[in-house]
Amino acid sequence: MKKVLVTGALGQIGSELIVKLRNEYGVDNVIGTDIRSIPNSEVVTNGIFENLDVMDDKSLASLCKKYEIDTVIHLASLLSAVGEQKPQFAWKLNMGSLTNILEVCREFNYKLFTPSSIAAFGESSPKDLTPQDTIQRPSTMYGVTKVAGELLCDYYFKKFGVDTRGVRFPGLISYVTPPGGGTTDYAVDIYYEALKNKKYNSFIASGTKMDMMYMPDALSAIVDLIEADGSKLIHRNAFNITAMNFDPEEISNEIKKHIPEFEFGYNVDPVRQSIAESWPNSIDPTCAVEEWGFKFEYDLSKMTVDMLDKLAGKGIGDKNVSLCK
Ligand code: NAD
Repeated sequence: MKKVLVTGALGQIGSELIVKLRNEYGVDNVIGTDIRSIPNSEVVTNGIFENLDVMDDKSLASLCKKYEIDTVIHLASLLSAVGEQKPQFAWKLNMGSLTNILEVCREFNYKLFTPSSIAAFGESSPKDLTPQDTIQRPSTMYGVTKVAGELLCDYYFKKFGVDTRGVRFPGLISYVTPPGGGTTDYAVDIYYEALKNKKYNSFIASGTKMDMMYMPDALSAIVDLIEADGSKLIHRNAFNITAMNFDPEEISNEIKKHIPEFEFGYNVDPVRQSIAESWPNSIDPTCAVEEWGFKFEYDLSKMTVDMLDKLAGKGIGDKNVSLCK
């Protein structure tokens, strides 16, 4: 990857990925794009940023040509919980944008990274250590678009030789940009509320386990897979990756180690709960480890220390919260 265009660059992943890519590849070699703009954000002010609606294929192609890119990282998407509120729009945006991106990559011979998700699995997939290749019949529109996207990327690789790559991300946790409406968002909200109000009611029910990953590990995985030797990739588009696995009780207990007065309870949202129940308890990342050396640094306890530290440093919460270290 020498020059990269990122779609959805102001979202939860993009806003941190852009900073990492600018540091590693040079400010002039990273083109951040999004349908919206956040005028004072680092993504917009500290490098190249362009407004782009990925549904507009002509503008997409002309921006790619203008900057003479060689790689696209496609992040613009509607996420799981929002997708269930607007299923027709989720299909239109997630599939329409991917089709446009794949076509531009085919025409100009660009490399493509686009993420899938644990949402690509469904109730009939094996629940524990869900294998890389298994039954995938998701029950959400978001999941339907993710499976279709995985297959479409495989098709473009086999049929047209487009160098498509991707991972199935678990829930991503970060202290920088709030998540965009996913089912695992409770695992971010809980840190903010622990610091601000010292209490939190989880919208995901007791005992519901899901895979998660801290954002620095997710960003490294993106770069590592894009830079991996393509001849060693058997799966290419939808590698299972994960760094930790917990239910709401386990994350709250970890927070209590640092904020002993933290009160934790439940206020379950039936829609997001039923989405969570249709997903795996845990996924098996063996193929990612074997084919491109996937690794991670943060487990639940290391992530919790960093999240609380970084959020407190941003001024989240009252100054009287004493973090036990
Ligand atoms: P997000 O919702 O935080 O950000 C999406 C961005 O896309 C937003 O900034 C939005 O303005 C932009 N966008 C929406 N419509 C657009 C359009 N028509 N043209 C251009 N930009 C548009 O999403 P995210 O969390 O950063 O996720 C990025 C990708 O990673 C998605 O494909 C998502 O499915 C996948 N993923 C994310 C997670 C997670 O926990 N965040 C987990 C699994 C997979």
